[in-house]
Amino acid sequence: MKKKLPVSKNEDLILTIEDLTYQGMGVAKVEGYPLFIEGALPQEKIKAHVVKVTKNYGFAKVMEFIEKSPDRVENEDKIYLQTGIAPLQNLSYPAQLKFKRKLVTDLLQKVHLDNLEVADTLGMETPYYYRNKAQVPVREVNGKLEIGFFKRNSHDFVAMEHFLIQDKRIDEILIKVRDILRMSKITAYNEEKHTGMIRHILVRRGYYSHEAMVVLVSRVRKIPNLDQIAFLIQQQCPDVKSVMLNVNPDKTNVILGKKTIKLAGKDTIQDTLNGLKFDISAQSFYQVNPQQTEKLYQLAIENAELTGKETVIDAYCGIGTISLNMAKFAKKVYGVEIVPEAIEDAKHNASLNDLDNLDFEVGEAEVWMEKWQKQGIKPDVIMVDPPRKGLTSSLIQSAVAMEPKKVVYVSCNPATLVRDIQEFMELGYQVTKSIQPVDQFPQTTHVESVTVLERTQFD
Ligand code: SAH
Repeated sequence: MKKKLPVSKNEDLILTIEDLTYQGMGVAKVEGYPLFIEGALPQEKIKAHVVKVTKNYGFAKVMEFIEKSPDRVENEDKIYLQTGIAPLQNLSYPAQLKFKRKLVTDLLQKVHLDNLEVADTLGMETPYYYRNKAQVPVREVNGKLEIGFFKRNSHDFVAMEHFLIQDKRIDEILIKVRDILRMSKITAYNEEKHTGMIRHILVRRGYYSHEAMVVLVSRVRKIPNLDQIAFLIQQQCPDVKSVMLNVNPDKTNVILGKKTIKLAGKDTIQDTLNGLKFDISAQSFYQVNPQQTEKLYQLAIENAELTGKETVIDAYCGIGTISLNMAKFAKKVYGVEIVPEAIEDAKHNASLNDLDNLDFEVGEAEVWMEKWQKQGIKPDVIMVDPPRKGLTSSLIQSAVAMEPKKVVYVSCNPATLVRDIQEFMELGYQVTKSIQPVDQFPQTTHVESVTVLERTQFD
């Protein structure tokens, strides 16, 4: 017999919010049945309307706040919540930092690892305007080319000029570029019809160098007056040292296409991280919060306790930012990364900084870890900084087989981190320091952290 649910669709209820999900939704329970409510915070009492029920959980929306959380920040402008640019904007910053720590402790508790310590989340002094990179969609609204953002989980475009979490200079450059495109009668991309030209504008800006790059992402290669447009961008924004055109002719949500052409200036912009120079090209991955990245890397380096004699592996090395930081204090660093262009940048960046104790390989970290193991390489420290899906068992096994003294795990997803920690523990490694969350993405629900695992001497 079908079990009756404790709530039904379209029912109005009084709820008290108990928790916040990793996506920032409030959770209330009715006889143990969880309801998810957008925009509601823990401790709040609300009048809610049930909008959807499934077998195991449902969704409701706030009709009225009866009691508000002391951590609530009232915002006039709901657009940042609606677009998902800043889903935690209505939570005070100290509460955001606590929330991020709690996501980690809750996950540890679930697998009975509550004995592991988690430090307070390392936050930013000014938790806004931190992004060094913006990629904003371009669409036509009422006959005008606009920059903006899409509403969460939709393709509804909202025109806007201020993006709240991007470097303010980037917002200014975006507006100038928008106006130049308007003046030059350039058309905006139309997603439904797959017509029009400019799909996105990407702007990157060096936090220390103040050099900026503008990438116009276009559906078509041929755009009228391109040279003039590039000239005007540099004339009106002299800090733009590179203007590129990226061609993306496909019907896709992926922002960048394969082909990038230089329109004016340099191919790359340069920035520094912990005093090291990095040339960054349009397509390369580069951490978006430079102030927090420096803290994150310093932590990773301190935890590696390098003396100059060590061999280090940096798996998932991107353009070599961690590798180069480590190479200054180690004997030899091996890096591996799946994107060939990133490895080209990594090699270039090593010589830019006069470092010659690095070897970079293109390929899957899983494959190279096994190769290095078979080659008899004996790393003292293995650094891993994987994407959200975390590590594979085979990578963990090859890493452990090389018997490094330490594994330093930089994670952007606590769920896979906790899963992987368990596997390392089964293979004789222990978490020896507090897990340190570092807030790389204030106002959003992303949680980055550093964990140190050390080999226990039972053999
Ligand atoms: N450590 C770098 C990059 C971290 S992001 C930094 O801090 O800048 C994760 C990187 O892993 C990305 O550059 C991505 O391209 C790469 N990657 C994803 N899957 C991979 C795999 N299976 N093997 C190697 N690299 C991979």
